Amino acid sequence: MLRDCLRALRFDIVSIFPGIFESPFGDSIIKRACEKGLLDIRIHDLRDYTLNKHRKVDDTPFGGGVGMVMNVEPIDRALKALKKEVPNARTILLSPSGSTFNQKKAVALSFQESLILICGRYEGVDERVRLHFVDEEISIGDYILTGGEIPAMVLVEAVSRLIPGVLGDSESITEESFSEGMLEYPQYTRPREYKGHKVPDVLVSGDPKKIREWQKNEALKKTLSIRPDLIEKTKRSN
Ligand code: SAM
Repeated sequence: MLRDCLRALRFDIVSIFPGIFESPFGDSIIKRACEKGLLDIRIHDLRDYTLNKHRKVDDTPFGGGVGMVMNVEPIDRALKALKKEVPNARTILLSPSGSTFNQKKAVALSFQESLILICGRYEGVDERVRLHFVDEEISIGDYILTGGEIPAMVLVEAVSRLIPGVLGDSESITEESFSEGMLEYPQYTRPREYKGHKVPDVLVSGDPKKIREWQKNEALKKTLSIRPDLIEKTKRSN
């Protein structure tokens, strides 16, 4: 099922490096979707919500340790200000300790009216943000990046392409890897033979039933060999 697209999905992204988003969101599919009124992406500088004259957003950690920790106050103030504009927004902190982002989560988020994304930096964010000021914490995988900006872009892109009209052909969404708990079947295009490697005969047979059957089998074979965990997970959730 896809979101009923009467209103643009709004993203508010809070970061200390708002300029990072210009290029990824200023081109291609995301740019077109914004122009078509399907997405409304707003980037906010966290420093605009500070109260100190140096616009400082971080401090040393209590109890010692290396690096700096982002203060709770500017994040709270940013969330409060944004919530006045989008009271129903779901608030998300990007963090390696969050639950791991996946296609199922992207689908769930695509039904929200509005999402506020908080990007951390340095050694991370004061724990009170996670405990008291956001709805959830999302990680994009078990590795550490320097900041939450790239994770925010990943989330925006994965969610946005599920909005009807953002991609040209909504069919391509339902056929993709992870949409049915499996990897997508192998794809080929011209030439029919390259350096002795041929395209499977069935794909040029012109028989749609056989082609569909082949695609289903190949998707299953590929998933079993590369990502058997996906099949296990689907079995467990049924
Ligand atoms: N010290 C933290 C830890 O060990 O969990 C890592 C902080 S990281 C260097 C700085 C910021 O990058 C985080 O606050 C978060 O916003 C973002 N970040 C880094 N890796 C991430 C991931 N895998 N998923 C989501 N956000 C991530």
